[in-house]
Amino acid sequence: MVTVAALVLMIDAAATPAAAARKPSRGLFDSPFGAPPLPKARDRARAAKVPLPRPRPPEAPHAEPEVRPAEAAPQAPPQQPAEAAAPEPPKPSACRQALTEDVAIAPSIPDIHGPGDCGGEDLVRLEAVVLSGGARVKLRPAAILRCKMAAAIADWVRGDVAPLAASLGSAVSDLDNFDSFECRGRNRINGAQLSEHGRANALDVRAFTLANGQQIGLTDRGVPRETRERVLHSVCTRFTTVLGPGSDGYHEDHIHLDLMERRNNYRICQWDVWDPLPSVAPLLPAERPAEAPPREVSSTPEEKPDADSASKPDAGPAAQPDAQRTEDASPPLKQTAPTKKRRGNRRF
Ligand SMILES: [Zn+2]
Repeated sequence: MVTVAALVLMIDAAATPAAAARKPSRGLFDSPFGAPPLPKARDRARAAKVPLPRPRPPEAPHAEPEVRPAEAAPQAPPQQPAEAAAPEPPKPSACRQALTEDVAIAPSIPDIHGPGDCGGEDLVRLEAVVLSGGARVKLRPAAILRCKMAAAIADWVRGDVAPLAASLGSAVSDLDNFDSFECRGRNRINGAQLSEHGRANALDVRAFTLANGQQIGLTDRGVPRETRERVLHSVCTRFTTVLGPGSDGYHEDHIHLDLMERRNNYRICQWDVWDPLPSVAPLLPAERPAEAPPREVSSTPEEKPDADSASKPDAGPAAQPDAQRTEDASPPLKQTAPTKKRRGNRRF
């Protein structure tokens, strides 16, 4: 019995070291579950590539859809903003599309925002109006206007001014732009309500020139009254605001045109077409130049230069001087003081 037991022990002792040499490496990581699967999987992958397709089918349907959306997602966002940014710049208004080079030379310019409420959108630089025959009527200088105002000016020149010039025996070549866009209050008064000029919605016109060189001043009393009245009727039909001589004292030498929108489509047409100047001015002192020195009627010497300076320029302009003379006709008989005040006010 002893020998048998000893033999058994010897066998076990001899067997254990061999088994122990194998087990410890496996048992260190994972003895309860399966240390063998790891080497087996490696062996299978290395030895035979055939078994690999087997695990794929169950995993492939799940893995592929996960990869595709993940790859498609990052590609989609960069495309969307690119497409969204593209349509922003090209947004030509209906007015812009209609104001072709067959109608006017009016390139678009960037929007103006500020200062304050000044500025506007859909702006153009109206350089010339193109007549039906292709001839161009240049605006001197070019006018900065909203597209609708520029289109209205173009329609007016093409539809009314050109035929008027033709009736005068010539063609229109230039339009005298006295003022277009300018950020200011009405009548250039600080603190006043914003002028339509500040919204690029107004144009001041002083005259238009014919191809034969003749200049037709809209407020020039030397221009036949019929011609000026035709212009009056045409602008008051096309524009919502027309201010000229007799309106407020600020438009004696030009005509203000704008497209201001008011309630009930209310329109303002204030332009007194004065009668032509008389061929002989009865109140003008004609003999001054040669015998100027002897005038010593005024009470103070300061009045002399005022009277002279006021009379000389008055010989040129038309509307203002006569209005002034009619107003001043009675006051000078009473006192000289009122005359001083009026002249002083006009200088400001
Ligand atoms: Zn104006």
